[in-house]
Amino acid sequence: MNMASTGITVQADYFSCLATVLYIRKENCLYRACPSADCSKKVVDQQNGRYRCEKCNREFPNFKNRLLLSANLADFGDNQWVTCFQETAEVLLGHSAETLGQLRDTDETAFDEVFQKANFTTHLFKNRVKLETYNDESRLKVVVMEVEPVDHREYSRRLLGNIRKLAS
Ligand SMILES: [Zn+2]
Repeated sequence: MNMASTGITVQADYFSCLATVLYIRKENCLYRACPSADCSKKVVDQQNGRYRCEKCNREFPNFKNRLLLSANLADFGDNQWVTCFQETAEVLLGHSAETLGQLRDTDETAFDEVFQKANFTTHLFKNRVKLETYNDESRLKVVVMEVEPVDHREYSRRLLGNIRKLAS
């Protein structure tokens, strides 16, 4: 079925999973964003020490760092590439986008370590999933909405409940 030409809109769906981070792409994880409070649009470097935001239709002498992470998560049965924007990316990496921007430019080893440390950590991920069509090819796009610590007691209780349901 060709989703693009039939014009079918696919509703976003939500799901939670307990998953472990296998890999986080370090390359292009930070971008230069508009410094306005409520704007996070990527700015265009004007090559004269000024940065232009098309959305605000303004030039600024500065920019703020924003995170856009691509991460590979694994649960018990599968793995999946997901996207983390600013807030969830900061939780996952344990540092603010500003700190990471400074580290990248001043201490590459420390910057690398942040990513090494985030690998193989397990969290509860709340995600939004959407089927996107591009060049006649459909694929699932998963965006992480929340990253929460694992509550092992609550998780065990849920597993036991599931087992009981299966057994009865
Ligand atoms: Zn802006």
